[in-house]
Amino acid sequence: MEIRLDKIGDDPYPWRESRTISAESLQRRQLVGLSNVSWGGAVTPISSGFLFSAQLEYKQELSCPRCLKTSWTPVTADVELLLVAASEEPLEGELGLREEDLSVIFVEGEVLDTEPILLEQLQLNVPMRQLCRPDCAGLCPSCGADLNKAACKCDTEQGDPRWADLAALRDKLAE
Ligand SMILES: [Zn+2]
Ligand SMILES: [Zn+2]
Repeated sequence: MEIRLDKIGDDPYPWRESRTISAESLQRRQLVGLSNVSWGGAVTPISSGFLFSAQLEYKQELSCPRCLKTSWTPVTADVELLLVAASEEPLEGELGLREEDLSVIFVEGEVLDTEPILLEQLQLNVPMRQLCRPDCAGLCPSCGADLNKAACKCDTEQGDPRWADLAALRDKLAE
């Protein structure tokens, strides 16, 4: 959605929207699904620009990097950003104490497009590598069986004497 910053008076300007974003468009390998994203907040005028605050609420479907099982997780997040006109980059010392901790978004012209902010937030909320559970056993590299459900009949690295020399060498190299 587009917010006209030049139409905002002295009071906080409340806004809310619901968006459908495809998981593929975020290009994160672990992310396989996204619910509708509903988010909203306020744009508040301050001396150095505007304070953009929002709350997001949605669900994301992640696949476990080890066993590939997918599951939905609810996500809620708070966002606070400082909006500054692109022509008026704040000088050092010009921002208040609290504002210094905020990420700054430079806005060209008088119209704020919320979409890039939303896409960035959605990407930030995708974990780098989240297992379905801390001790996920993963899939067998030989037969593909889900080792969380049952052990397979394949030789494991430890049980196969052919791998012993290699393992010893690997341990030596790691020293
Ligand atoms: Zn897993
Ligand atoms: Zn196997």
